[in-house]
Amino acid sequence: MSWNINRNLNADALERWLAEMEKQIRAASPVDPPDLETLPDLLREHWGQWFSLKGAARQQAFDRVRAWVIEEEIEAVRRTRDSATCTGCQAPFAFYWQTSARADRLRQKPALCLKCHRKAEEDKAREKRMDEFREANPLSRHYLHQKGSPPRPAQYAAVMNWREWSDDGDRLSQGLVLVGDSFTGKTTAVYHLFRKLIESGHAYPAVIVNAGQLNTIPERVMDRTIGEFMEQLQTAELLLIDDLDKVRITPRVASELWNLFEVRLREHESPVFITLNTRTQRDFIRLFSGREADSHKVGESIYNRLRQACQFIDFDVTGA
Ligand SMILES: [Zn+2]
Repeated sequence: MSWNINRNLNADALERWLAEMEKQIRAASPVDPPDLETLPDLLREHWGQWFSLKGAARQQAFDRVRAWVIEEEIEAVRRTRDSATCTGCQAPFAFYWQTSARADRLRQKPALCLKCHRKAEEDKAREKRMDEFREANPLSRHYLHQKGSPPRPAQYAAVMNWREWSDDGDRLSQGLVLVGDSFTGKTTAVYHLFRKLIESGHAYPAVIVNAGQLNTIPERVMDRTIGEFMEQLQTAELLLIDDLDKVRITPRVASELWNLFEVRLREHESPVFITLNTRTQRDFIRLFSGREADSHKVGESIYNRLRQACQFIDFDVTGA
């Protein structure tokens, strides 16, 4: 209970309590402090003790009146108890106007019981999160409206059943790497998974980038927007990198990608989702085969990091 008399008490009640508090505090210290100069030595030794006792008595009086005010405040709210019928679940429910002044002024009873009210708020928040997701990812219009059964039902189900944590709170997976040919439904599956996670309210915001956007990295290095861009990818709750193998991986891009996976998987411990047509480790590393041998090594490190943290799902295997 907060010490919030302004909200619920009228001025008369407040005056009454202040007067009572003053009375009690005065009663707690009936004697004026003695003049030190005139005290005999013996009494002077006890002066400090007398002073602190007086202080304690004042504090007690203050606490007592405060407790009384709080009690009165609760009682005042209790007296405004009323009932209404929920327009959601049709059940009668009790509610409090909080102050009699409010009851006189508002008259309009609440339409929803607390449970239905919370549910309505949650629905609204979920709708807002999905709107923001659709707005930030214009392609979602296409992927979220994919009708019909997925081309690879087993793999699609594996994606939809992805879980970061077990019921016991153990980490199961830090993301998915979906490999396989085009038109096997890899990207659609991740969009559907993101929708499921966003609707369940656990993960937000979600960022989706494709090769086209990652291919702007060299430009962004030039115009100095690279930091802002990479930070967005690092901090998103969910990240999908679509068609990673279509990215032109220069040494600078390779080091940005390495840094991105390090920050997400190790520092922030947030998941990563990747789709690519490349299936083998050798082909993956070959994507990094710029003129510099270092690039090769970065590719190998990224592959090993992803292997270690994420679950790989092969969309080319049929009849699985
Ligand atoms: Zn209800």
